[in-house]
Amino acid sequence: MADLFNTVYGRGLVPELQSYVHRPYLVVTMADLWPRFRDSFDDNVAGPLLVDTLERDDLDRIVRALPHFEAVIGLGGGQALDVAKYVAWAHRKPLFQVPTMMSVNAAWAHRAAVRVNGVVKYVAWAIPEAVYVDYDVIRSAPIALNRSGVGDIICYHTGHHDWQMARDKGRTEPQWPYDQRLVDEAQAALQRVVDHADDIHAVNDAGIRALAESLRWGGAAFHNAGWNPRHIEGAEHFLFYALEYQTGKPFIHGQIVGLGVLLMSWLQDNRAAWIREVIERIGVPYRPEEMGITWDQVADALRILPEHVKRAGLWYTVASDHPITEDEIARMRAWLS
Ligand SMILES: [Zn+2]
Repeated sequence: MADLFNTVYGRGLVPELQSYVHRPYLVVTMADLWPRFRDSFDDNVAGPLLVDTLERDDLDRIVRALPHFEAVIGLGGGQALDVAKYVAWAHRKPLFQVPTMMSVNAAWAHRAAVRVNGVVKYVAWAIPEAVYVDYDVIRSAPIALNRSGVGDIICYHTGHHDWQMARDKGRTEPQWPYDQRLVDEAQAALQRVVDHADDIHAVNDAGIRALAESLRWGGAAFHNAGWNPRHIEGAEHFLFYALEYQTGKPFIHGQIVGLGVLLMSWLQDNRAAWIREVIERIGVPYRPEEMGITWDQVADALRILPEHVKRAGLWYTVASDHPITEDEIARMRAWLS
């Protein structure tokens, strides 16, 4: 098993930081979170830096204007943790990460997701001294966000089928030949989430820990596989990209990916009923109307999917295997209604 980030579980972890983090320390967080955590820090705080942009040009300007600091504390969801990485990388300072929800794997991934003219780019590099998962902090986040973190784990179900189909049809990319070892590692992370579905639904300690351990594996997996995404992502993400491209709407990542997992596993004839039961037990909404879009928008995204995959230069999956027919769209809609 390749290296994963040092991760610590417990309670009361935030007020403890001031006693050992290098001083002065920059806290990178969000405006809505800072009032809640301000009293957990002493007067050695530089900043705080309240994140309101992910555009790389803006971040470069912000990074140049920061006050003096010797360490960075990232405190929040994906955006705060990604900006904390970017700042720590730009100034070469030690980084301590505190995710406040279990919605994404940003705390455990090497690169920061920034935007360049609105398009996501994964840049920079930071390995934190430690990631602190405080059960009480996580539990205080909205329950829908904490459950939605499973989206980026259950997508291995469709991703693996895509990779195996590409192998069987001689359509794998030369740099990413099928690798059962990588698939087995990802399967272990997926199985952990399946085994703890009820705990993740309840957001209890065992559920937080199980989901965090799988996000910890998944966050580092892209780098640890030589920047190979084949075992961690497939057509379910491509459908999300097509929907985002068409609607311009923001989504809760795990929810829209969950819908993608259901539709693509149905097309793959890949235990679709089973993965639906897992998603329902965990309690991640997957119906279009629950995320502010219509079935017609989903149908449109399915129709343009092969073309969108080609335009975006993405890899060979069920999305490229055959054009999705109107009959298939109607049957998927009936299945999920
Ligand atoms: Zn994802």
